[in-house]
Amino acid sequence: MGMRVFKQVPRILFGRDSIGRIQELLPKKLGASDYYVYVVDSVHKKTMIANRLNLADADMLIYVDTENEPSTTMVDNLKAEVMKSKNTLPKAVIGIGGGSAMDLGKGLAVMLTNAGNAKEYQGWDLVKNPAVFKVGVPTLSGSGSEASRTAVFYSEDKKFGINSDFSMYDAILMDPSLLATVPAAQRFWTAMDCYIHSVESIEGTMINDLARSYALNGLRLCRKYFLEDGTDDELMVASFMGGASVVNSEVGICHALSYGISLELGYHHGIANCIVFNVLDEYYGIHVNDFREMLKKHHIKLPENVCAGVSPEGFERMIAMTFRMEKPLTNALGPNWREILSKEKVIELYRRM
Ligand code: NAD
Ligand code: ZN
Repeated sequence: MGMRVFKQVPRILFGRDSIGRIQELLPKKLGASDYYVYVVDSVHKKTMIANRLNLADADMLIYVDTENEPSTTMVDNLKAEVMKSKNTLPKAVIGIGGGSAMDLGKGLAVMLTNAGNAKEYQGWDLVKNPAVFKVGVPTLSGSGSEASRTAVFYSEDKKFGINSDFSMYDAILMDPSLLATVPAAQRFWTAMDCYIHSVESIEGTMINDLARSYALNGLRLCRKYFLEDGTDDELMVASFMGGASVVNSEVGICHALSYGISLELGYHHGIANCIVFNVLDEYYGIHVNDFREMLKKHHIKLPENVCAGVSPEGFERMIAMTFRMEKPLTNALGPNWREILSKEKVIELYRRM
C-alpha cells in the first residue's frame, strides 16, 4: 500500500469557553469592506452563539438547516448567496456545528475559488484551487470533520465526499462547553461515528502506526465516555482523534454499507452507522460487543428490520452505492475486495439490519 502525505490541521485552539476567542484564528482584515462568512447550524439561533463571535457589520452570518444532511446544491446556493451580496471574496469562512455545518463551511470555502458546481468535485483530489481560509468549530462531536480532508454531500444518485487537501480546515476551535446542549441520543449516534472511524482504521489493511495511535485514543476515549465516566472535553478529543486516524488510513465496510441506507432510507450518518455496525460481528467482532454494551448501558434502541420495505430497485441502488466506496472496501478487505464481497453478501447484510 502506497504511503500518503499526511496533512493535518495546522492551528488549534482547545479549551472551555474558547469560542469568545475565535477572532484569534482568523486572518486579519485590512479594510472596511473585508468580511468573514459564518456558516452556522440553525440550532444555534437558540444557543445564541452569534453573540459570542464578535461579529462586525460587514460579516455575513448564514444559518443552515441540518434537518436533512447537506447536499451539493446547498453548497452551490451558499456560494450564490455570498456572491450576490458581496463583490470580493471573504477573508475567511467559519463552519460552526456538527459534521453537516462543518462540511458546508468547507464546501463553501472550496467552491468560492473553484468554478462550476460542487458535485463536479465529489471524489478524490479533484479540487483545483486552494480554498478561502477556513475555520471549523465543532458543536457536536464524532464526525471528525474538524480533522478530516473530506466534506460529504448528497448529489442526485450518490452521497460522496469532496476529498482534497484543500477541503481540510486551516484552523479549528474546540470548545467542549459547546456540547452542553446536544440531546443524549444525538450525542450517542454521532459519537459512535468516531468509535467506528477508529475501529475501521485499526482493523483495516491501510493502517500504520501513526494512524493506529490516533485511532486507539479515539477508541479509548469513546469507551471511557460511554462505559465509565468521560467528560465532554474527552469526547471532543475523541472525535478529533478518530478523524485524524482516518486521514492517514481509511474507513471500512461499515461506512460502505451505511452510505447505502442513508441514500435509500434517509437515515442520518451516525444512526446509519450504528444500524450497520450491529451486524458486522464477522468483521469487527470484539468492537461490536463493546458497542452493544454501550447501547445497553445508555438504553439506546436501534431501529430494526430497516430494509423490510426496500424494493428490488432500491437494493440495486444501495449495492451500487456500497460498491462505489472503493477506498473503504479496499481498506477493509484488501485490494481483492471485489472477489471477497459479493452482491449476495451485501444483500444478506442489509437484510439482517
Ligand atoms: P449533524 O451535523 O447532522 O447534526 C445532527 C443534529 O445535531 C442536528 O439537528 C444539529 O442541529 C444538532 N446539533 C449540532 N450541534 C448541536 C448543539 N451544540 N446542541 C444541540 N444540537 C446540536 O450531525 P453529525 O453526526 O455531526 O454530522 C453528520 C454529517 O457529517 C453527515 O452529513 C455525514 O455524512 C458527515 N460526516 C462528515 C465527515 C467528514 O470527515 N467530513 C465524517 C463523518 C460524517
Ligand atoms: Zn463516519
